[in-house]
Amino acid sequence: MIDDDNVWLDAKSGDSIYAVLGQQAAAPTIQLPAKCPECGNMTLHLFFHRYYDNRGGGWAWCSSCHGFGHGGSNVPKWWINSPDISMDMLTAVPIKLDQVHDVVDRHWNTLLDSMATTDSDIFRRSTLMTDGSEQV
Ligand SMILES: [Zn+2]
Repeated sequence: MIDDDNVWLDAKSGDSIYAVLGQQAAAPTIQLPAKCPECGNMTLHLFFHRYYDNRGGGWAWCSSCHGFGHGGSNVPKWWINSPDISMDMLTAVPIKLDQVHDVVDRHWNTLLDSMATTDSDIFRRSTLMTDGSEQV
């Protein structure tokens, strides 16, 4: 008897899930966990790991329906490896990554926030310029 909770699906359902990683690679725009394109639950996780230069792997998976995609990937320039994820967690099927999805999500969101810093700084400065009561 197969335990359905342990079955991970890299068949058709994984394609739309992995596509989200491709869409986010150019520039991340979504906070994690995100909405799974297959089951609609807010349990989609995304992760990269750089081995050297731009070479590495990419993972996208859903903790609810267990759809996933993984492949060798050109890791985007903005990606910084997580210091909390060790190599032995980087299995093709993201079973171990899913066990630490909170760490994965926090790392992604930190990178996302750091990329948004420039824009928000400009916004803050322009706000201060129109508000004479505040000084930087
Ligand atoms: Zn799902």
